[in-house]
Amino acid sequence: MSLLKNFERYPLTFGPTAIEFLPRLTEAVGADIEIYAKRDDCNSGLALGGNKLRKMEYIVPDILASGADTLVSIGGVQSNHTRMVAAVAAKLGLKCRLVQESWVPHEDAVYDRVGNILLTRLMGADSRIVDHGFDIGIRESWQQAMQSVRDEGGVPYGIPAGASVHKYGCLGYIGFAEEVMQQELDLGFQFDYIVVCVVTGSTQGGMIVGFAAADRAEQVIGIDASGALQQTRAQVRDIVSKTAELVRLGREISDQEIVINPDYAYPAYGVPSAETNDAIRLAAQTEAMITDPVYEGKSMQGLIDLARKGFFEPGAKVLYAHLGGAPALNGYSYTYRNG
Ligand SMILES: *Cc1c(COP(=O)(O)O)cnc(C)c1O
Repeated sequence: MSLLKNFERYPLTFGPTAIEFLPRLTEAVGADIEIYAKRDDCNSGLALGGNKLRKMEYIVPDILASGADTLVSIGGVQSNHTRMVAAVAAKLGLKCRLVQESWVPHEDAVYDRVGNILLTRLMGADSRIVDHGFDIGIRESWQQAMQSVRDEGGVPYGIPAGASVHKYGCLGYIGFAEEVMQQELDLGFQFDYIVVCVVTGSTQGGMIVGFAAADRAEQVIGIDASGALQQTRAQVRDIVSKTAELVRLGREISDQEIVINPDYAYPAYGVPSAETNDAIRLAAQTEAMITDPVYEGKSMQGLIDLARKGFFEPGAKVLYAHLGGAPALNGYSYTYRNG
């Protein structure tokens, strides 16, 4: 029985996303495991899709019920999340106001012109760049953006960074966990691990709650890309507790069931290490699977390194949750000028 049966979903995605075996990456990694990917990066026709759309499906009914005419949200300059909020606003015929902060200490001549922010502007969002640093919590600049919409006579609907601390922000990835368990029936086997990037927390948080229903939450290995482990862990803890109650899981989720590995976030949020770049190149050159330097490249790096270190037992089947994010690559054109 689905934990989501009492919650309304507004479809923005194509439906269940594909799970595929990655034979050439598996071989190149050279550990005694099998690597699969679940392709949430290809989940929709809306502005290239990604994990934020799966979350937004459970938020849109609340937006429509609220009578708002403007979506307000916040993220970094190359935020995938604000691109997806802009997409949802365009699709629903709402206005969109975005605060884009300087979360990443990265300089590329076209950083604020290409990729996510280009698509965001193209979809008609009012995107305002401000000079604040990285923070996954509720920001003053966000409150100010809400107020500026009110001052102009509009009715704002606020969506926090990554849609994570929203009361329904976790539901989409409970759906992901239930979808994987359904697909496992067709595949005829279960995955031993699910590797997922974590920053604002509701993606991994949803998976934890969803898999906890089958006592499998500890198989979800979060790879931190925030570089702010304590804050991220606290946010996941909080989201998981509130959501478990919201969906009536029927039990508490323990700290041991929340697994977050901090080892791959260096040197900073949004800045790839040499090892991150190697991982991005390996996935691209073996499987034409495109990952980005902010999020998915770091979880790919984590998967590869953990596999080579023997973290996964021999024969393990490991599912890489690909959450999207490729548009940000355009903001790193100099980094990858030679491939
Ligand atoms: C937002 C995002 C993440 C992190 O998900 P959270 O729910 O914020 O933890 C990972 N990968 C991509 C591509 C994202 O856009």
